[in-house]
Formats: sequence, structure tokens, C-alpha cells
Amino acid sequence: MIPRTLFGDDHQLFRDTVRRFMEAEVAPHHARWDEQGYVDRDLWSKAGAAGFLCPSMPEQYGGSGVDILFSVILMEEQFRIGATGPGFGLHSEIVAPYILHQGSEYLKSTYLPRLATGEMIGAIAMTEPGAGSDLQGIKTSAVKDGEHYILNGSKTFITNGWHCDLVIVVARTDPDAGSKGISLFVVDTTMPGFTKGKRLHKMGMSAQDTSELFFDQVRVPAQNLLGEEGRGFACLMQELPWERLQIALTGVAAAQAALDWTIQYTRDRQAFGRSVIDFQTVSHKLAEMKTEIAVGQVFIDRCIELKLANKLDAETASMAKYWATEMQFKVMDQCVQLHGGYGYMHEYPIARAWADARVQRIYGGTNEIMKELISRTL
Ligand SMILES: Cc1cc2nc3c(=O)[nH]c(=O)nc-3n(C[C@H](O)[C@H](O)[C@H](O)COP(=O)(O)OP(=O)(O)OC[C@H]3O[C@@H](n4cnc5c(N)ncnc54)[C@H](O)[C@@H]3O)c2cc1C
Repeated sequence: MIPRTLFGDDHQLFRDTVRRFMEAEVAPHHARWDEQGYVDRDLWSKAGAAGFLCPSMPEQYGGSGVDILFSVILMEEQFRIGATGPGFGLHSEIVAPYILHQGSEYLKSTYLPRLATGEMIGAIAMTEPGAGSDLQGIKTSAVKDGEHYILNGSKTFITNGWHCDLVIVVARTDPDAGSKGISLFVVDTTMPGFTKGKRLHKMGMSAQDTSELFFDQVRVPAQNLLGEEGRGFACLMQELPWERLQIALTGVAAAQAALDWTIQYTRDRQAFGRSVIDFQTVSHKLAEMKTEIAVGQVFIDRCIELKLANKLDAETASMAKYWATEMQFKVMDQCVQLHGGYGYMHEYPIARAWADARVQRIYGGTNEIMKELISRTL
């Protein structure tokens, strides 16, 4: 196997600690969270107390000031146990970086420390009932009124949407300016006029509280504008490659977990007087999957290196997201098959992982949009 060279001793120690946390605080409760449709809120406080939220934020804003490899480890260990309920990655490595990179000193010092402890849970709301891939088609509006913006509209499919206390909202500030008429706002969910809709009933990721959000004449202080007015689209373009790489790296981690479960299962399962893994068609299928995951891991690790060096471009991140999530779903599907009928039963992790994996090809920009972005560079 090609050894992974990204991580040092301190990363390995951190991985051990995270693994213990995931096994003690997440794994035993996840089936119950799947049933209730959200993770217990106190998990967020425990994760905050352990330093597992926003670790890459600077210490002055409540983080640990460590490199993003610590966040990579958190995501990999979460997906290693098939735990798709906690929206930690989105909170720590999508929402918080927007505030750090685009926010004023006021926004950074007001919100980042509370995200790091888990006192506040973060979400980001781009998608609307009528506009997902085509973000320029959003209708949510923000109209300046003295020292406030008046926000009206609705969003859907928002990860952490039911638990969240803070939402980065993408809204139109100029109806005639195309992509230059879009701005970002940090909306505190206690602001009057803000309401959360129902938790959405999804095919998979059942413990993830994905929700609708509604804005009815919400008065957002002008100081909660994130970045400059009209520069929202440009900010999104800057932050999206890292979001897409995160989806890709969790795809590889999830595929590896599925392969590990399946190797174990086919060893234990007997048919025609031998272990299922002893049929050559089965062991060759497992060999193919092992190869594809290994190939994918090398590409993803190289992308992570580029991100560390601030050189990850949109094209490469799109390739990673598209390829890794297609590979993930193919692996999941083959692993279900190798579990036979048990692979279709919810009490087997592979069944849940298969359903959870399907959305990876859809959110964060669909894989068709990823190919569109890549094709523009041909
Ligand atoms: C579980 C879950 C969590 C999510 N979390 C969030 C979140 O936290 N925040 C958020 O803002 N959004 C979130 N989303 C929304 C997600 O990002 C969108 O669903 C996604 O971007 C697709 O948008 P859409 O659903 O409107 O599909 P559409 O844009 O309507 O696409 C429909 C189909 O048309 C295809 N298509 C569209 N345009 C083109 C094109 N130019 N070329 C080729 N094909 C095209 C698409 O690929 C797709 O197959 C989440 C979605 C889910 C399901």
C-alpha cells in the first residue's frame, strides 16, 4: 500500500483521541438519533469541550489554531463509523471559515468563539425551493433600510437547519446586477421574523437535521453583512473548492469503512461449505474496490496538500468531488450486494451507509455541475 505521508505524530495522537470520542459518544447513540431525526444537542457541547469544533480557527477566536489536517481527521473518523448525523464538518470547516475569511472583526469576535464551544451551531443557506444548481436564480432578498437589511424569502435542504443558531444566508441585494447582486449575511436565528420549517424526511442521513428556513421581514443589522455588498458570489467561489474536497475525502473514508465491514462479513459468512470471501469472484470484487479506494486516497491526499498550500483550484476540487463520490457509491452498492439480504437490512451499517452515500453526488454542487466546471477548462 502507498503510505499516507500527510500526518505527523501529533496528528496520529489526535486521531486516537477522536476515534475514542466517536466510539464512546457517537456510535452507541447513532441508531437512536436516526430514529429521532437529529443528534442530541449535548453532543455539540461535548465536542466543543473536547476541542473538536473549529480546531483550525485561530486561538484568539476560540479555536486551537491547528492546521486543517486535524479537521480532516475529525471528518475521516466520523465517516469511518458511518456517523452522518453530526454536522460538525459543515459547522467547523465551511461556516466558520466564511466568517474568518470574509467577516469583520466584530463578526469574528462575536460569533467564532461561540461556534468553537458549540454554544452556537452554524449552517449555510444557499439553496431555495426554486434554485439550487443555478444559484443566480435565488429569490431571497435583502433590502437596505438605514442601519439594517430587511430579509425576505425561504431556503430548503439546509444541513444543521433545525439545530442551528447562526445561518450564513445568501440573498439578493440588487435584482438587476446578476452575480454581482448577491450578498452574504450572518443571521442570528433569534432575530424576529426568522422561523425554522420542518425537519426533512430524507432517504438517508436520517440523524442529520436538514430543514427548511423562512425569513419574513427579518431585520438584519448592517454589521452582519458578511464581506462587501454584491461580493457574495465571489466569496462563494472562493470557499466552495474546500467544501467540495471535504465531501470527496469523506467519500473515500466512507468507502474504506464499507470495504472493511464487507471483508469481515464475507469472511464470516458461509455458503456452499466455505467462506464467501473464498469465491474468486468475490475476492476479485473486493480487490477491485481496494484498488479504487487506494487510487482515490492518493489523489485526495494530494488535493489536501494543495489546500494546505492555498493552491487548491475549483477545477481540481470538482474532479475530486465528482470522482470520489461516484467511486464511493459504486463501492457501497457492491458491498450491499456482497452482504446478500442482510445488506438490505437497516441494522447492518452497510444498508445505512448505502443510503447515506447517495446524496454525496447531489449536494455541494451536483456531479453534473462538477463536470460543467471541469469542462470549462478544456
Ligand atoms: C441532504 C442535503 C443537504 C443539503 N445541505 C445543504 C446546505 O447545507 N446548504 C445549502 O445551501 N444547500 C444544501 N443542499 C442543497 C444541494 O446543494 C442542492 O440540492 C444541489 O445543489 C442541487 O440543487 P437542486 O436540488 O435545486 O437541483 P437542480 O439544480 O434543480 O438540479 C436538478 C438536476 O438537473 C441537473 N442540472 C442542473 N443544472 C445543470 C447543468 N447546467 N448541466 C447539467 N445538469 C444540470 C442537476 O445536476 C440535477 O441532476 C443539501 C441537499 C441535500 C439533499
